[in-house]
Amino acid sequence: MNSTLQYITYSRDLCVDDFLQCEFCFDKFDEDPEHPKKAYFDPIQKCWICEECFQDFKEHFHWIVEGS
Ligand SMILES: [Zn+2]
Repeated sequence: MNSTLQYITYSRDLCVDDFLQCEFCFDKFDEDPEHPKKAYFDPIQKCWICEECFQDFKEHFHWIVEGS
């Protein structure tokens, strides 16, 4: 609740596992160096949230987003 999320480009370096996965829908993110995509990263839980899940759950979790 009230976590601060960072809206940043996916990076495997920030992952606890060796793959990127959305915390909510378990969609896997693929790193694409030519078309970098952004997602929401929780630096405390070390988890990623995709754009769609962010929109679905933002009112429930009251996330604060930093960065651009
Ligand atoms: Zn998702």
